[in-house]
Amino acid sequence: MAPRKSTAKKRKTEETEEGQRDGDDSGAPGDLTADKMPERKEETRRGKLGNKKYIGAHVGIQGGIWKAVESCTEMGGRSFALFLGSQRSWKRPALDPKAAAKFQEQCSLQGLDPAHILPHGSYLMNCGSPKEDVYEKSQALLVDELSRCSALGLHLYNFHPGSSLGSISTQQCIERIAGAINYAHQQVPAVVTVLENMSGQGNTVGGDFSELKAIIDQVRDRSRVGVCLDTCHAFAAGYDVAADGGVKALLEEFDKTVGLKYLTAVHLNDSKGKLGCHLDRHEDIGKGQIGLSAFQDIVNEPILDGIPLILETPGRPGFEYAEQIQLLYSLCKSQ
Ligand SMILES: [Zn+2]
Ligand SMILES: [Zn+2]
Repeated sequence: MAPRKSTAKKRKTEETEEGQRDGDDSGAPGDLTADKMPERKEETRRGKLGNKKYIGAHVGIQGGIWKAVESCTEMGGRSFALFLGSQRSWKRPALDPKAAAKFQEQCSLQGLDPAHILPHGSYLMNCGSPKEDVYEKSQALLVDELSRCSALGLHLYNFHPGSSLGSISTQQCIERIAGAINYAHQQVPAVVTVLENMSGQGNTVGGDFSELKAIIDQVRDRSRVGVCLDTCHAFAAGYDVAADGGVKALLEEFDKTVGLKYLTAVHLNDSKGKLGCHLDRHEDIGKGQIGLSAFQDIVNEPILDGIPLILETPGRPGFEYAEQIQLLYSLCKSQ
């Protein structure tokens, strides 16, 4: 993948291992402030009372990790994702206990439950790497990130399983990923490691649901493993969520292969690429190849009640996260 341009406001990442990052530099909260759209915020909140869907977005942590909570509520979200530190460094300064306390304080103030907050792992990590040094650094970063979750009072942690880089078999890569998870579980108690399904780009593992199942099977404490289903990745991997009844079919396939009890979260992304293209290119809701009707089915699917449903779309001006969240809530039939 060619290096991409990034602007000061966007998520900045550097890729060291193949396919370990999401398709876009999207995910920053943009410039949404409460005074820019106070009425819509209230209106959206009223519309959500009693709604069992926890829709939100990946928000930035610029200016302090607690800012993520503010960004979430400002855009009318009921759930959010965030990075736990810089995407450019393997070693990060320790989390300031005051910042962690402020984060937790903000969460309770804004009524955000840890069950609806899903940190996203660093793109530097490759827990399936065939390179010993990268594997060790990835294990250490996984432990560090889980510790940060604990310090922030969070229970869930989502990451990309890993890539074989084409130099080991998928099976060997899966063993290494499960090994890293087992190691991290020993080091840090309680936090649930949530594997993300991938688009199947390059040599990444987790495009096929059976690969996720194979990882889970090798995790010793299966009460501490889950799956975050990314709609763009699933579509790019060949699961036709855009077809009539595609959402039901996808969930049935997931249940058959992995088991719905492992379904912990969803990443709501439309796809720039076509079905089965294996390209990890996110698009704004309803603007891509998946289309709005699949998202309407998603926000009306009872199986997805109560879990975080998180946008990682480009969020272009005029159709930023606040608008996309509002649109998705407007599609809910049971408001
Ligand atoms: Zn991801
Ligand atoms: Zn995702």
